[in-house]
Amino acid sequence: MLTDEEWERVYPFIRFDIDRINTHKIATGASLKEAISAVRDRAFDLYYEITGFRETNINALEHHQLSQYGNECPTCGHLLRTPKASFCANCGRIKD
Ligand SMILES: [Zn+2]
Repeated sequence: MLTDEEWERVYPFIRFDIDRINTHKIATGASLKEAISAVRDRAFDLYYEITGFRETNINALEHHQLSQYGNECPTCGHLLRTPKASFCANCGRIKD
């Protein structure tokens, strides 16, 4: 997960990489999987540099902004799905 400050650094590279992947697909007729492996992913490198975790799914990377989620559940510790979540989707605890 990334803080908003870290997200501001990574997000432009996510958009840039997605555009490069799509351009590569159109130009070469490659499949999405082929295009992803052919294009060097700057967003993945920067995410790794910040977190030490090697993400490989560009779509998943778009969901690593911490502020998109709610607080940690006081019962199980998982992040609530949104800041406005009324219950924990992991353990079912209802928000007070
Ligand atoms: Zn929970």
